[in-house]
Amino acid sequence: SAIVSKTKKETLHPTPAKEPPMWILLSASLATALLCVGILSRRKIRALSSRLAAAKRACAETERHLSKELKQQKAQQETLFNRMLAGVLILDGKARVRLVNSALRRLFDLSGNIQNKTLLETIRSHELHEIVQTAANQGHVAGRELAFTSGAKSRYFSVSAAGLKDSDAQSGVIVLFHDLTQIKLLENRRKDFVANVNHELRTPLSMIKGCVETLLDGNAPNPQDQERFLQKIQKHSDRLTYLIEDLLALSQLESGQIAMNHAKIPLAPLVQRVFDDLQDRAQPRSITLASNVQNEIQIWADPDRIHQVIQNLVDNGIKYGQPGGNVCVRANRFNNNDSVIIHISDDGPGIPENARQRIFERFFRVDKARSREQGGTGLGLAIVKHIIQAHGGRVWLNNHHQKGSTFSLSLPNKPNSR
Ligand code: ADP
Repeated sequence: SAIVSKTKKETLHPTPAKEPPMWILLSASLATALLCVGILSRRKIRALSSRLAAAKRACAETERHLSKELKQQKAQQETLFNRMLAGVLILDGKARVRLVNSALRRLFDLSGNIQNKTLLETIRSHELHEIVQTAANQGHVAGRELAFTSGAKSRYFSVSAAGLKDSDAQSGVIVLFHDLTQIKLLENRRKDFVANVNHELRTPLSMIKGCVETLLDGNAPNPQDQERFLQKIQKHSDRLTYLIEDLLALSQLESGQIAMNHAKIPLAPLVQRVFDDLQDRAQPRSITLASNVQNEIQIWADPDRIHQVIQNLVDNGIKYGQPGGNVCVRANRFNNNDSVIIHISDDGPGIPENARQRIFERFFRVDKARSREQGGTGLGLAIVKHIIQAHGGRVWLNNHHQKGSTFSLSLPNKPNSR
């Protein structure tokens, strides 16, 4: 019964269950929280690190792209810099070479490493040095035309220099060189041409004037002298006429005003017509005109212009060939029968070595007096060259060491062949 009562007592007043201590609960919840945080963080870290990796990849991609673009830009700038026709020289604050482009190297024949060399070591010109100093000191663009002479050669440049201040606040000077040599050459040729025309026109005019004054003079010369003066007037007025005709032809040819009326023409009859026209000039010098042109040879050309070309060359053979000699015209096909070469030769004294280069220049003569005496204008070969070039052909003086001269010209023998 004691047991029963005890059980009853326990049932009525149960002893409270022993609760876990608070620290355990706290630790458990902390552990759970940490576990949760851990799990969450690991996920987040995984997500973050994959984002980081993607960002890194994107960064690397952008970097690759940028460096490719940078390289391309650099290459473009370098190409531009080196392809420029003008020479470019960049100097630092102490007037030492920082950069030059290919054009400048070519124009001044600069080779090897010239970086850090002084301006005077690179291009020896005190005038250039002055321009650079003006640009460096005053900051504005300085420039003028300069001539650079090396040996017998002179080159002309328009030089302009400007002070530089780059992002690193480093000062320097950029110098541009525009080559004017060709323009100067053409300008000089034009001046020479005008002077030559002036001279060529004045000489016969003053001769004619002198003769007329003598004839009009109160003391009239005897009839024989009168005749001589009149012949002189005729000769010089003829010369004036030839000169004006040649000048006109040349200026029309040079300005491309003359239309070429191409046609297929047999060469042999054309040469024969030239011989017929010049027979009167050949006879007094006992010069034989001979043609060795086969009947079947044809050319594609303007008949009047080619007549003029062959006439000028045969006429030169008569004028400068030896009395009692021969002037011969030969022709043969070449270039798969697409072209014809015509040779006009004489057995005269030929053209001296030092004159060969200039023989096609306007007013160039080996012997001025001889040419004038023969009624030459000094324009015949220049006209020949222009006409042949307008036909797409070529004319040259043969370089052989036999006696006499041989001029050769190539012409197409059908449309569009050279
Ligand atoms: P020109 O009217 O003086 O004959 P060209 O232009 O025809 O002018 O010729 C220029 C110069 O070339 C001539 O003055 C002459 O000195 C020289 N020349 C041309 N053809 C011959 C030749 N066949 N033989 C020698 N010299 C020539």
